[in-house]
Amino acid sequence: MNGEREGSGWWKITDVRVIDPYRQRAWQGDVLVGQGRFQDLAASADAPESVSGRGLWLVPRLLDMHVHLRSPGQEWKEDLASGSAAAAHGGFAAVMTMPNTDPVVDVPSLVSWQIAEGRRIGLVDVLPAGAVTKASGGQELAELWKMEKAGAVGFSDDGRPVADGGLMRAALSYSATLAGPIVQHAEDVTLSGRGVMHEGEVSGRLGLAGVPGEAEAVMVWRDVQLAALTDGRLHVAHVSTPGALEAIQWAKAHGLRVTAEVTPHHLFFTDERVAELAFSPVTKVNPPLRPESYRQVLLQAMKSGLIDAIASDHAPHHADEKDLPYKDAPFGISSLETAVAAVLTVGLDELAMDPLTLLVRMTAAPHRILGLSYQGLVPGESADFALIDPDARLPVDPGKWYSQARETPWQGVALRGQVVATMLRGRWAMREGEVLTCGLR
Ligand SMILES: [Zn+2]
Repeated sequence: MNGEREGSGWWKITDVRVIDPYRQRAWQGDVLVGQGRFQDLAASADAPESVSGRGLWLVPRLLDMHVHLRSPGQEWKEDLASGSAAAAHGGFAAVMTMPNTDPVVDVPSLVSWQIAEGRRIGLVDVLPAGAVTKASGGQELAELWKMEKAGAVGFSDDGRPVADGGLMRAALSYSATLAGPIVQHAEDVTLSGRGVMHEGEVSGRLGLAGVPGEAEAVMVWRDVQLAALTDGRLHVAHVSTPGALEAIQWAKAHGLRVTAEVTPHHLFFTDERVAELAFSPVTKVNPPLRPESYRQVLLQAMKSGLIDAIASDHAPHHADEKDLPYKDAPFGISSLETAVAAVLTVGLDELAMDPLTLLVRMTAAPHRILGLSYQGLVPGESADFALIDPDARLPVDPGKWYSQARETPWQGVALRGQVVATMLRGRWAMREGEVLTCGLR
């Protein structure tokens, strides 16, 4: 599937701002890449081909630990080729794919198939999460250990919570012997009911059924108690409420192996966006967009590191599926290709964070959470990185995306930062907005 790529495979990126969140260092210089690996970070050697990095950041191996690429079985929404291209276009060298496909990824053979397909496409490392329970049905544990042997890097019934406390206890007990965590979509569905947006002043004004913040918080409190009971490894997906953060803070204060992620859309938007976009389902996500008071708490938790990671929750749907009345449309938006710019806009402009602290949440932190050993910018390590123009300010244009899904609450919003190239194992996956593989677009 890969088209012929250029040259010798030796590249020198010159005069680039090297941002190394793995080691919390930044410097201006040249980076030499060859034979698929970082070769020389002082870069005295020359390469046959060079790329000017002037005005750009070089950021090693961005990992999005929460994406839905929909294959096998839902290729009308997205497939591994279009999803890989979207990831490369978004600057990512690796993604963790959620297993709520059809069939659900709950056996080693499906894990192996996704990895092999990802390798064949060759644009991004596809790192599958396996299901926690068989068919994500919440009745019986799946074969976690066997899936890990096949290459699964985490376990989740995302889209559905593991509601049964006994099963969650068992899963967390197993996780103590696994490298990857149990990733919980924390939601008490008996509380969220038929809610389609956050329950509050805005939902009342719009006349839409609400989901109380407590639907998330009560589940996270249960799960951290079970993490304490089992010494298990719990990762809380897409945290969106102050109540959940209090539970996570309690867990961390007690030394538990609990981590958390937040999405760019929960950092950027509030439930007012539902009104601003006049009931367009591009604001319908689960967990829902929250009020400004929640967003402020999320921002501070992301800044402080209480929230370890940022992950897109890229959840593409076909345009026809999303083109329904708000109450009927599915939850989820296409967000791989806005994630980096949204995070830079919030982190640099709104929070005045330094880039090393900000970008650790999309690089070293997700690798650590998933038990992956990638070391970043050291000679001999896989040459995976993004080149980013941190000062570009462009309105979001889904017409340029590679994802099959274009549903986004960011349409037309000016964001700071543009990914201009992505390299995977020493080969360009994307340059100047173009994904370098034939037959994808
Ligand atoms: Zn989820």
